[in-house]
Amino acid sequence: MPGIIENLVNELTRLPGIGRKTAQRLAFFILSMPEAEALSLAKAIQTVKEKARFCSRCFNITEKEICEICSDNSRDKSKVVVVEEPSNILVMERVKSFRCLYHVLLGALSPIDGITPEKLKIRELIDRVKHNGIQEIIIATNPNTKGEITAQYINELLRPLGVTVSRIAYGLPMGSDIEFADEVTLGKALEGRREL
Ligand SMILES: [Zn+2]
Repeated sequence: MPGIIENLVNELTRLPGIGRKTAQRLAFFILSMPEAEALSLAKAIQTVKEKARFCSRCFNITEKEICEICSDNSRDKSKVVVVEEPSNILVMERVKSFRCLYHVLLGALSPIDGITPEKLKIRELIDRVKHNGIQEIIIATNPNTKGEITAQYINELLRPLGVTVSRIAYGLPMGSDIEFADEVTLGKALEGRREL
């Protein structure tokens, strides 16, 4: 394989779920694309790296200081759904009946991997609860060990602040990831949330 193709294949194998075979297929597909389309793909990658930043309030991905969700006045601002990653917001947003605010932790607690509370956006969540008239925090961390530890930790910090803390009721097996939940399951999980 020519070095330049090999190089592209190596870059593509860095992507999640892309093995060497798929990477080769994608590399040859990119090679066959019209130049403008291929460059537009490259440009989109460059732009997202240059312009994407975290919302200073909820840590969602945005181009602005405050993200579109935080700026949306039609949302119920008394409820905040806590998720691990910005991509989880996209999943939760599929539930159209539930339009509230979010808070992204940017990870989950895992002391063994050095992910301590200070590494996550937990202090920022506490500040929001103290100052922004939030009545309920709905914890939607993943239904696995790290997600559960994180939910318990946050619950203990928030309870003394007089806010209702609930945990989303997943219809998902323990150890799974909310990325894979469908809209109906997530809608039920939100409705069936239980207070911690
Ligand atoms: Zn935001």
